[in-house]
Amino acid sequence: MAGPVLAYWLRRFGFEPTVVERTPALRHGLGGHAVDLFGSGVEVVRRMGLWAQIHEARTRTTIMTLERRGGRPVDVNVDRLSAGISDQHVEILRGELTKILYDATRADVEYLFGDSIATVHDDGSGVDVTFDHAAPRRFDLVIGADGLHSTVRRLVFGPEEGLRRPLGGYLAVYSLPDLFDLGNRMLVHIDVNRIVSTYGVHQTGEARAAFLFRKPEELRFDHRDQEQQRQIVEAEFRDCGWRVPQLLEHLATADDFYFDAINQITLDSWCRGRVGLVGDAGFSPGPAIGGGTSLAAVTAYVLAGELASARNDLPAGLRSYEQRISRYVDLSRAAAVKTMRSVIPGSRTAVRLVPWATATLVKLPASIQKLAWSQNGLGKALGALQLPDYSPHLTSR
Ligand SMILES: Cc1cc2nc3c(=O)[nH]c(=O)nc-3n(C[C@H](O)[C@H](O)[C@H](O)COP(=O)(O)OP(=O)(O)OC[C@H]3O[C@@H](n4cnc5c(N)ncnc54)[C@H](O)[C@@H]3O)c2cc1C
Repeated sequence: MAGPVLAYWLRRFGFEPTVVERTPALRHGLGGHAVDLFGSGVEVVRRMGLWAQIHEARTRTTIMTLERRGGRPVDVNVDRLSAGISDQHVEILRGELTKILYDATRADVEYLFGDSIATVHDDGSGVDVTFDHAAPRRFDLVIGADGLHSTVRRLVFGPEEGLRRPLGGYLAVYSLPDLFDLGNRMLVHIDVNRIVSTYGVHQTGEARAAFLFRKPEELRFDHRDQEQQRQIVEAEFRDCGWRVPQLLEHLATADDFYFDAINQITLDSWCRGRVGLVGDAGFSPGPAIGGGTSLAAVTAYVLAGELASARNDLPAGLRSYEQRISRYVDLSRAAAVKTMRSVIPGSRTAVRLVPWATATLVKLPASIQKLAWSQNGLGKALGALQLPDYSPHLTSR
């Protein structure tokens, strides 16, 4: 998200960005999990002229059915739930969003696929960069937009170990056949310290399964060892009952299996000289709980705009970007901590309350729902930054 949005706006403001993407071929199409754009995040893609396309490509999940052992299933209208958080919202598969953003930039932005930055040397007037594959080059600025496990951040700001805050949660997602004829429905099973959901992908007739769980102690696992990660998920959920055994039958063979800890990045400064960070690389609020996609879109737009405003002093542009976004980042991280607590209930009582409370909330008028979400913090975070108008810096294309 952050990389192509930043590149788009930098290009519109007359810069010449180069995007380095580790994956050899663009991971696009119908892959990946569903992500949300809310509020200012929607406004950024509107200003890019991409809203109609993104809206057309949205997931079509309209009903979320919350189930728990011994309780009646509760249906929740997803559109009403989102409207309580923000007036503007779209849910879209990450692969679809990536494709739309890439198509909007590929004609006039240089992309280096299948490569990664290996070293960065900032001498005050420029940055010398070496790559795993391409020949060394010199740039005016380097921005790490390379996600939660950012290489640029490690090279310039230090190892991830010292910059992350584990929230105690873990997340797994993979594709599987639509076993339950889901259509536009998402099924969610809630249990103490774990939830499982499955939703349909209308474009392919397939489905996704998502598993979230909390552990009191940090799990040690190898990021590259998918076999070990699949075993962790199997062990955590095999006694969960419900439809979980059928979902787990597809765990071993899923070729898009994703697993990670729900960690935040806690850095409070996102620039050093001529190097900056944006999106998850700088300030991930935690995957799936803190509005990270909107945060990435909005901060990328602001970064491009602040650099355009300080064209003759790019390090100063990075510093004003940092000031502009810091409240939004702080509130997003705080909201994610609360969401993490409420989304995975920690007791039997909470398991009983969540479906009832969610169904009650969506029946309230949107204004009252908004008040509730602002208490949770997500609504407050989304409203923390009014998008500046950088149109005076636009150059003709
Ligand atoms: C399972 C899951 C569910 C989620 N659900 C939601 C949700 O419902 N709502 C929401 O708002 N957010 C959600 N998120 C979070 C959201 O995906 C991120 O916050 C968002 O994608 C951040 O965008 P980004 O551009 O900063 O990073 P990313 O989207 O992670 O992009 C980073 C890019 O950098 C590339 N890269 C990585 N390392 C290198 C390297 N060394 N060199 C070159 N390229 C590299 C990657 O291949 C990737 O293309 C979810 C995340 C996960 C994992």
